[in-house]
Amino acid sequence: MEHIHYISSRGKSAPVKASEAILRGIAPDGGLYLPERLPTLTTEDLFALLPLSYPERAAKILSLYLTDYTEEELLADCKAAYSERFVPAPTGIHALREGVSVLELWHGPTCAFKDMALQIMPRLLSRALEKTGEALDALILVATSGDTGKAALEGFRDVPRTSIRVFYPVDGVSRTQKQQMATQEGENVAVTAIYGNFDDAQSGVKQIFADSAMKEALAAQGKFLSSANSINWGRLAPQIVYYVSAYCDLVNTGTIQMGNTLDITVPTGNFGNILAAWLAKGMGVPLGKLVCASNSNNVLTDFLSTGTYDRNRPFHTTVSPSMDILISSNLERLLYFAAGAERCAVYMKALSTEGKYTVDADVFEIIRRDFDGDYCSEEACLDRIASTFANYNYLLDPHTAVAVTAAERYLCGNESDHMLVVSTASPYKFTPAVAKALGIPATDDEQECMNAVAAATGTTPLEPLTAVFTKEIRFTKVIDKADMAKDVLS
Ligand SMILES: *Cc1c(COP(=O)(O)O)cnc(C)c1O
Repeated sequence: MEHIHYISSRGKSAPVKASEAILRGIAPDGGLYLPERLPTLTTEDLFALLPLSYPERAAKILSLYLTDYTEEELLADCKAAYSERFVPAPTGIHALREGVSVLELWHGPTCAFKDMALQIMPRLLSRALEKTGEALDALILVATSGDTGKAALEGFRDVPRTSIRVFYPVDGVSRTQKQQMATQEGENVAVTAIYGNFDDAQSGVKQIFADSAMKEALAAQGKFLSSANSINWGRLAPQIVYYVSAYCDLVNTGTIQMGNTLDITVPTGNFGNILAAWLAKGMGVPLGKLVCASNSNNVLTDFLSTGTYDRNRPFHTTVSPSMDILISSNLERLLYFAAGAERCAVYMKALSTEGKYTVDADVFEIIRRDFDGDYCSEEACLDRIASTFANYNYLLDPHTAVAVTAAERYLCGNESDHMLVVSTASPYKFTPAVAKALGIPATDDEQECMNAVAAATGTTPLEPLTAVFTKEIRFTKVIDKADMAKDVLS
């Protein structure tokens, strides 16, 4: 098979193999890595995937993209990644009502969809060190406001030739999140709280990355700095898998027939998850409209209705915090495919200097063929949690509620064979908002709140979320933000 090379969305970097794209994360010209062409899946290929398990499907699909990894390597990694850490299976499909299903992507160790990528990406990175002949080991630095840090810690835990250090603002994360990180297991993990807010943590990490003395000091320890953020191709590729796999599952259960068009609604922040759906469609999976669902930070809704992306607007703190984003970095990859590298670079330049850009009419037309956008207010989100529980006895987290709202509105005006709504977090990950929606009196104590929601709904919190309150605390260090570099070297 011909290798697939990875090119930069801004067109000014040399093509590289998959392992190098994963190792580097971002291209030298500041662009995002993309496969030079999309591999295809025929109807026959899809039929062949039907009887396979999730790890087997994942290995097949990843092998089409990561052509310098062998299928044996990928199968071993996928089996290790999508193992007993996912309960009861890597994904689940819940039939919500006639014509609408929910794809649950939160069966992993941190009960949110980032586990789907972060359980496998570290293994791909570890192999990339070998494949590229990199002599140093990777030290992953993360600044987190909560969820990404925990998912990254779980993903890198005990992965060979990697270690991870997470910084979080001591008063800027919830009690559950703090507890989740403080009790993290693994030999190669470290967690440090800092006095300061999330921006302090993030700029501290950025300074460490930019510091050449740091680089030398770490090299002397046999390490180099790397990140695990969502623009890395190693995080995007595994997300394509669950769209292909969900299509197969829906065929297997007779919910759709092979060849039927499946519409998809995705609760969107950085545009990574929905872009993965678009790539699956580009490979030949019969997907229809991709509905991009936003909360009140509706910069993408406006972009998809006008062609103008404008981040100059107020930032809202919502009950779906993982979608509180005004710069959706993965949109750049779509712009590359729709507009080409040259125009993509112009748009991105305008975004960084003016905070906005307008795509050309031909680009807008291409994007509109596949995408629709909508947003959901805070009130509508909480109403949706309540009405979905009342009508269908199914509990939604606020991110998924945003998506269900957008999906139902889309279905009011459009024909659809079937709609798949992507669910990105367990409702127990955001219990205070769920309690509020259901009118359950909530206390400030998250553990009590979980119990109250469980009692009122007859549902059960997931084990990884309840276990954090009884696990041994390993990390208690709190440092001044000025001491972050020293902490990394210690
Ligand atoms: C990260 C996240 C999202 C947004 O996903 P993107 O790939 O950034 O669009 C949505 N919901 C939850 C719960 C998340 O953690």
